[in-house]
Amino acid sequence: MTQHFQLTGGWVEVVAGSMFSGKSEELIRRVRRAMIAKKRVQVFKSHLDNRYTGKFAVGSHDGRTVEAIPVDSAAQVAQRLDPDAQVIAIDEVQFLDEGIVEVATGLADQGVRVILAGIDTDFRGEPFGPMPRLMCLAEVVDKLHAICVQCGMPASRNQRLINGEPAHWDSPLIMVGGTESYEARCRSCHTVLRGDQPSLL
Ligand code: ADP
Ligand code: ZN
Repeated sequence: MTQHFQLTGGWVEVVAGSMFSGKSEELIRRVRRAMIAKKRVQVFKSHLDNRYTGKFAVGSHDGRTVEAIPVDSAAQVAQRLDPDAQVIAIDEVQFLDEGIVEVATGLADQGVRVILAGIDTDFRGEPFGPMPRLMCLAEVVDKLHAICVQCGMPASRNQRLINGEPAHWDSPLIMVGGTESYEARCRSCHTVLRGDQPSLL
């Protein structure tokens, strides 16, 4: 493995963390630096996230952007790959299917530097989509933290609020009616209503 890594120069790096932890900022920083190094760079982002920028850019909460190709499956990433790309970056990778693991590791085997940014835990605090395998298989993992909006400590969790109240464990992932929002919170301030606790839905 080490020898292969040296021969091809390909690898996978994952930037993981909660919402607002600076994953998109970090992905944009790495992409910009690769462009400065005159690498051929291609950026993708999950369709599901259109915040701030519309569909064709990766945006961070501080307003910086880079152009990106919208995708909603690993197969679409594979179809739209630039065969000459030296660096492939994907934002919001947690929303993609498990097929992204094979796409990412296959690219790295071929010598591509693969940069993946994604939320590592869902609103329940459980591992999110393909993130666990990606984090295990990556050469480099950086776990970023936001600031807990309740207590100011480093935040690793995504607090889901429905009509302003903590969401129930069983709450539907797609909301019909009502308003939902998310906050960055630490482990002790993160709340998920379970079992016989009253559902606020
Ligand atoms: P991510 O991609 O992880 O959601 P972004 O890179 O889009 O994060 O945004 C990070 C920026 O969000 C920070 O630099 C800061 O300006 C802003 N921000 C807003 N709320 C918070 C918070 N609770 N903790 C940390 N940063 C926050
Ligand atoms: Zn807290």
